[in-house]
Amino acid sequence: IARGRRIFRASALLPSAVILRLRVDNGAGQLLACLLWACFTFWAVTDGTDTVRHAGLVIISALAAGATGTLAAEVLVGRLYISGMLLQGSVSLMLMERPDPVIALLGVVFTIAMLVVHRNNHQVLVQSLMLRFANQDLVLNLQAEQQALAELNATLEARVSQRTTELKTLAEHDALTEVLNRTGLLRWCDQRKDQLGHNDAFAAIFIDLDRFKQINDGLGHTFGDRVLAEVARRLTRGVADDAALCRWGGDEFVIVLSGAEDGLREKTAALARHIRSLVEMSMEIAGHDLSISFSAGIAFAARTDDDISEAIHCADLAAGAAKRKGRGVTESYDCALLTEQERNLTIAQSFKSALERREFTVAFQPIVKAGSHRVECYEALCRWVSPKLGRVGPDEFIAVAEETGDIVKLGAFVLNEALARLASEDLLRHGVKVAVNVSVRQLVAPGFVEEVRSALMAHKAPPRSLVLEVTESVFDPRNRTVILTVLTALRGLGIEIHVDDFGTGYSSLSRLHEMPISALKIDKSFVQALDTHGRAIISGTTVIARDLGIEIIAEGVETERQAELLEELGINSLQGYLFGKPSPEIGRQTSDVLQAKAG
Ligand code: C2E
Ligand code: MG
Ligand code: MG
Repeated sequence: IARGRRIFRASALLPSAVILRLRVDNGAGQLLACLLWACFTFWAVTDGTDTVRHAGLVIISALAAGATGTLAAEVLVGRLYISGMLLQGSVSLMLMERPDPVIALLGVVFTIAMLVVHRNNHQVLVQSLMLRFANQDLVLNLQAEQQALAELNATLEARVSQRTTELKTLAEHDALTEVLNRTGLLRWCDQRKDQLGHNDAFAAIFIDLDRFKQINDGLGHTFGDRVLAEVARRLTRGVADDAALCRWGGDEFVIVLSGAEDGLREKTAALARHIRSLVEMSMEIAGHDLSISFSAGIAFAARTDDDISEAIHCADLAAGAAKRKGRGVTESYDCALLTEQERNLTIAQSFKSALERREFTVAFQPIVKAGSHRVECYEALCRWVSPKLGRVGPDEFIAVAEETGDIVKLGAFVLNEALARLASEDLLRHGVKVAVNVSVRQLVAPGFVEEVRSALMAHKAPPRSLVLEVTESVFDPRNRTVILTVLTALRGLGIEIHVDDFGTGYSSLSRLHEMPISALKIDKSFVQALDTHGRAIISGTTVIARDLGIEIIAEGVETERQAELLEELGINSLQGYLFGKPSPEIGRQTSDVLQAKAG
């Protein structure tokens, strides 16, 4: 019962005080009814006729039997009720004038039987109640468990969605620089497309860092990674919210922006200038002061274009063209680039076999002394006639060979060919030199000095008969140490070092004294501009060079007037079509010039 009560209370159907009052009221009522029935029995048994007595006993027995069920909930009240009514009947039977012990005994036995039945009914009731509340508890527990399960599901769902977002971020971003990767960029473009209006278009800026390989090779990949991360940070700063920045791969970045077609060109050009100013600001990484530059290409795509990749590819081609133009510039895509790119690809592919098939030859162009116009040197210029591509100019194939690294082999070929011709034409006896163009890639290749020395020995040519023409890129601070070592060693052998195309690359006047330079070759563009700005530049350069003990050679001299003006300015030597075009025939050139001089 205690358990039953506890369960009953726990069910919270009614407050326990109410339950207690109900039980007390019910108990009191039942016992009062029992007392009244007991009085009735006493009267019926003692005063009544036989019929009344028997009827009274039957009624009492029936009521007591009924109470085993109706009072099954209350043990004490039930027992008092049953025994109060029945035992009182038996006692009354014995108190009569003519006691009836048999019926009285039957009354006692019936009382016991009824008490047993009442007890059983009570137990059945308690068990059924307990079962009912136990079920209710089970249902409550189940509901609680379901709720807990639902909460767990909700937490799991939240976690899964958070993890999905994290994975998406990882899949669409570059781990090193944290900017978008290719997948992320293409997705950004897809989403952006839907937000654009009819007159909007896309622009792509392809950024290719200049000479990044040298940083990686020279200072290590970890350092290179830090440079890339810093460049990405600067680019991020420069890119507005409506544009996307992506690391396309290696040292290449792509920016895609959108806007009204009308102003998009100006907007893109302005952005390209802005990011250039940010990236080219000097940066300090791990104690190294660096200045990074990049070549960039710009291309456009209509909003309706299926794929922005095409525009990115075009921007890449334009960046390639910018690189060939001398790096550090931005080029816009031009349809002709594709064929140029294809041609460059064919050049690169045909190059190796061309070297093996000896398709390269060397032409010689005289360089004459100012005033006397006596040939003092021949510049060796490489020529290529490819069965597949026809005549390919050095301006085309040298850049490709520098990119692929084949320039090292080609350079060795030209050097040997030039020295062989120098020896065979008996020019050495006349003190005529030969000038060979050397690319920076050759200079920094291991064993270059040794290679030059053995070539000289193989052709029995003294080092003073050889001139090596290098470009202004030797003043690039990033290769400074190694280039200085190599040039000093060559100069130490007695070889002259001339700086070719002077004035077109690094503004290197202030650095001239740092390198063992014997002469500067003023680029032909200045000679051709002698009547305008060229004159001031040439005369200024001549003054400085003379002070430093460096000679000046003018390239691209085509007219007598140019030669005279240059001589007036104090130029030491002249080269150009006026004195001879590059030709495979050295002897003819020499005699032509000598004849001209005699004439
Ligand atoms: P460069 O060393 O400055 O050679 C001079 C270029 O100017 C030659 O072009 C020559 O043909 C041209 N030129 C000479 N006189 C005149 C003139 O009076 N007027 C005009 N308009 N042009 C003149 P080329 O042969 O096409 O060579 C172009 C460049 O290719 C060379 O410029 C040189 O930088 C490079 N190159 C040629 N051969 C080699 C080589 O064997 N190795 C390397 N590394 N570069 C080479
Ligand atoms: Mg040259
Ligand atoms: Mg030149």
